[in-house]
Amino acid sequence: MKLPFIIITDDDTQVLRAIQRDVRNKFREEYKVLAIESAVEALGAVKELELKNETVALFISDQRMPEMEGTAFLDKAKDIFPDAKKVLLTAYSDIEAAIKAINTLKLDYYLLKPWSPPEEKLYPVITDLLEDWQNSFTPEFEGIKIIGYQWSPLSHRIKDFLTGNLIPYKWFDVEVNKEAAELINIHKIETDELPAVLFEDGALLKSPTEIAIGEKIGLKSTASQELYDVVIIGAGPAGLAAAVYGGSEGLRTLMIEKKAPGGQAGTSSRIENYLGFPSGLSGSDLTRRALTQALRFGVEILSPCQVIDINTKDNYKILSLSNGPEIKTHTIIISTGVDYRTLDVKGINELSGAGVYYGSATAEAHSCKDKNVFIVGGGNSAGQAAMYLSGFAKNVFIVIRKSSLDSTMSRYLIDQINITNNISIMANSVVAEGIGKNRLECITIK
Ligand SMILES: Cc1cc2nc3c(=O)[nH]c(=O)nc-3n(C[C@H](O)[C@H](O)[C@H](O)COP(=O)(O)OP(=O)(O)OC[C@H]3O[C@@H](n4cnc5c(N)ncnc54)[C@H](O)[C@@H]3O)c2cc1C
Repeated sequence: MKLPFIIITDDDTQVLRAIQRDVRNKFREEYKVLAIESAVEALGAVKELELKNETVALFISDQRMPEMEGTAFLDKAKDIFPDAKKVLLTAYSDIEAAIKAINTLKLDYYLLKPWSPPEEKLYPVITDLLEDWQNSFTPEFEGIKIIGYQWSPLSHRIKDFLTGNLIPYKWFDVEVNKEAAELINIHKIETDELPAVLFEDGALLKSPTEIAIGEKIGLKSTASQELYDVVIIGAGPAGLAAAVYGGSEGLRTLMIEKKAPGGQAGTSSRIENYLGFPSGLSGSDLTRRALTQALRFGVEILSPCQVIDINTKDNYKILSLSNGPEIKTHTIIISTGVDYRTLDVKGINELSGAGVYYGSATAEAHSCKDKNVFIVGGGNSAGQAAMYLSGFAKNVFIVIRKSSLDSTMSRYLIDQINITNNISIMANSVVAEGIGKNRLECITIK
């Protein structure tokens, strides 16, 4: 496999050598490190790498350079490798420019000079960024393939389930994708057996349940012990935080989640107000970090698995599960959060999963490509979904009953929406009806 590149540019030879040395010392086995004094030459090299089908994982650029500022270099470089992480090397006097770049350029980090000792100030940051990059980077697709109809509710549930569990997959819509027909032929799948899920090892599941998929991808739905100190029901941010503390205190901790870890937050395309993440992070990223932290402390996680009843016996609490035997514990923490309020309007319920989706911006974004999307509601989740979907859809309409978003949405989201050309607000409006046979075809708005 070709190693991805880390590109460093700084016009100060000594600084460039020092950072090149430090980055190489730590990352040379997994990345090629290229250090270039001139930002213009660095851009030329980046273009060449693109032509040679190489990949850049990270750009590190000084801010003050004679030919162009670091922010300008990163802006140009990101057009060529949009997924690469971007770090600006700054002095105290440049902090303002760096903070501005977090908003304008989606800068991932600004690193103050000097960065010694690198073990403390450089490596943790770069490791974190590269891990993030690795998690979203897919070289050539070899993972799970889902073949089905876009308007099938089961296809949607499977996509939503895998997205929530942070499992990458490729979606093949039989109505638009030629490869889907080939896969159906090769694997002898009847159309009434769709959706089908193909795994890396060649295994095939037809019209599978979430539990069957969960078992296949190695999710645990049976507890390893009979008795726990603490059982946490629900793996949203509250449950995950409780799990980290339970585990770190050495308690035998079990967390049970009915759908996918992350809860509501896990479905967010971008959380910008979470303490400690100045550039924001996606819900899936937050979930991945919290899960890793909980697992590191020895927490056991059952998912997908629903707690359906709780009783007490001999001073123990006994939990009954949707699947698997009962579980005994001293303490239960209930962090089951909230569920979506559904749109109780004629024709909508029947089309859920077939053009009507609840909070599935990330799972269904690609199917919205070049289409008109209507988001019902004016809260922060609507704002985030609108921003995210505006990158895929032709137009995004936010349908709200009030006259403006002011009392329901955070200011930072309203500001972003106001400067996004393909998002419009339909104020003083309600969705009165959903119409369509096997899929949503039109809606009536009053
Ligand atoms: C799209 C979206 C974007 C958001 N963006 C932001 C933001 O930018 N900033 C912000 O501060 N907040 C945001 N929020 C709100 C934030 O996500 C919630 O406040 C937070 O997730 C609540 O955490 P929680 O752990 O209490 O509950 P939840 O996140 O609701 O998690 C509860 C979990 O419990 C599970 N569960 C329920 N019943 C059972 C059962 N019987 N057995 C097993 N498991 C069960 C559920 O499946 C779920 O995973 C957003 C919410 C949404 C939907």
